[in-house]
Amino acid sequence: MTTVNIISLNKTYPNKPMPVLKDFSLSIRDGEMVALLGPSGMGKSTLLKLITGIERPDSGDIQFDGSSILNIDPNKRGAVLMFQKSYLFPFLTVEENIGFGLKVQRTSSQTIRTEVKRMLDLIGLLGIERRKPGRLSGGEQQRVALARALVTNPKLLLLDEPLSSLDTEARMNLQEAIRTIQRELGVTTIFVTHDLGEAMAMSDRMALLLNGEVVALDKPENLFHRPRSLAAARFMGVSTFLSGNPLKVQDEAGGFVSRIANPTYEKIFAIRPEHIRVQKDGCGQSLPGVVSDCVFRGEYVEYLVAVGETSVRARMSMPAPMFPHGAQVFVKFPKEYLFEVIGN
Ligand code: ADP
Repeated sequence: MTTVNIISLNKTYPNKPMPVLKDFSLSIRDGEMVALLGPSGMGKSTLLKLITGIERPDSGDIQFDGSSILNIDPNKRGAVLMFQKSYLFPFLTVEENIGFGLKVQRTSSQTIRTEVKRMLDLIGLLGIERRKPGRLSGGEQQRVALARALVTNPKLLLLDEPLSSLDTEARMNLQEAIRTIQRELGVTTIFVTHDLGEAMAMSDRMALLLNGEVVALDKPENLFHRPRSLAAARFMGVSTFLSGNPLKVQDEAGGFVSRIANPTYEKIFAIRPEHIRVQKDGCGQSLPGVVSDCVFRGEYVEYLVAVGETSVRARMSMPAPMFPHGAQVFVKFPKEYLFEVIGN
């Protein structure tokens, strides 16, 4: 079991002017699953390459249980990587694929058999050990890839968008399977994804990576409900920002700024789209607006309402009213759901 400390990593690729990782630090507890979340091109895969030893950092350190791994051979670091594609050997059976790493380590065939069986049991694939990868579904292939990664008892499991090529059902099944297995084995894990829902469903903590830096690190529920910065809030799906005094703002259209809250204002308050109310009648704490879009999405209705100069996105779960384009409505920002964010 492993504690991972990533300390002030810097990495610039030789042919690129801008650093990919800037003073990047992250500590991961023993047995924890941390989701590394961020748009593509933000350096997530680069971090995994630095951990596995495919690339070297310009400066900084990576430590497992307090000891640097930077001078250890990549194949002796104990970090295993699982990708979007399973990369199974097509000519080997499921069993042989899973046992491959142990065979390379010259483990006895009796131990390999026992360990492979344990893994097959764990990933719920007992009975298909003699099949070749070509006869497995995408989800089954990823399960085998997971078993192959875990059979060597790694110190750190690195998952690089392992579910993004799967359809929704296989994806949900595998999300649950990975989480259960990861907990059961207690293996420290970094899970890279650009999918917010997946990161929230699977991780103990989420690290939000923007422009080579961790801009937020917290439990999914805290980051979702109370992101501390404007950038983190935007990434978490917040698009309405109010400036000034949250009590005043609800009465005065003039005090209301949305989307791009001006950072020169002293205080910026944010509100999640599902906490904004769109209603036919006004009340003391609402602002008049005009519906520019109203979309039925099954479990909820999404509204785009022009309030003054700005456009407010709201989401109300069913049953919720539908309004035609151009309808006059009132938008309410319940003050108990307003939270303060810092400007960057
Ligand atoms: P992410 O995984 O978040 O999508 P990456 O780590 O793959 O991000 O890439 C971050 C940036 O580094 C991108 O601009 C990418 O083009 C660049 N990059 C990645 N690998 C290399 C490389 N080997 N040489 C040069 N630039 C690279």
